[in-house]
Amino acid sequence: MTDLARLSIHTMTTKPWTLEQAAAKYAAAGVGGITVWRQHLAPYGAKQGREILRRHGLTCTALCRGGFFPAVDQAGRDKAIEDNRVAIRDAHELGAPQVVLVCGAVPGIPLADARRMVEDGIRAVEPEARAAGVNLAIEPLHPMYAADRSCITTLGEARRLCERIASPAVGIALDVFHVWWDPQLADEIRLAAKWTCGFHVCDWRAPLRDMLNDRSIMGDGCIPVRAIGQQVRAAGFAGFDEVEIFSDELWAGDQDALLARILAAYRQHCV
Ligand code: ZN
Repeated sequence: MTDLARLSIHTMTTKPWTLEQAAAKYAAAGVGGITVWRQHLAPYGAKQGREILRRHGLTCTALCRGGFFPAVDQAGRDKAIEDNRVAIRDAHELGAPQVVLVCGAVPGIPLADARRMVEDGIRAVEPEARAAGVNLAIEPLHPMYAADRSCITTLGEARRLCERIASPAVGIALDVFHVWWDPQLADEIRLAAKWTCGFHVCDWRAPLRDMLNDRSIMGDGCIPVRAIGQQVRAAGFAGFDEVEIFSDELWAGDQDALLARILAAYRQHCV
């Protein structure tokens, strides 16, 4: 077992690569896992995707992503639920143990209403997820996204949602980018341990030049990634460290060099 056996990389991190390219490169570098984004899976389909991962000996850690439940009308909410059903089926066929949920938010829909729509949406697809053996991983997003990407913004809120739904198929994806600022973080990591099924790492560049696509490599920002990881593991999490970096700057550069930098940073700042 290499020191990278518990490392997984999101295909979005090396966005310019196809799934086939990413799988080959990650596996050749000794990386143990891969989280597949739907846009990278789309050209192949879930069945062929599974075969690609099998051929390269990679563990599939998640399918990204589902969610986006709130909508202004019932037709929109139904469409979102159907899309989540497709994601669950794809995850099952791909061999992904979970679908990561970016829960959604829509400008103009009051947050309290949006939160109800999220809970209703998760409850609607939970039986299908449970039957498929696929976890729904609620990912609380940084509050800067509360208007248009996720009305679920803290680990505590995600945990209370899990507690209310109380299903073995509903858990939490904890991403350091979204939760590192939270004054309750240490306590919430412990309280959420029972539900935590995913752990995402990257770093927060200061100043952030773009809300979405300016994440940085671990060690290049101000998040205490290793310390948070140690708390998450001390609380009982035994899964992969998933590197998830969206960066226009890094995508514009050489992806082989980016992968090499990520591996070095992972060794230096995460394990
Ligand atoms: Zn994430």
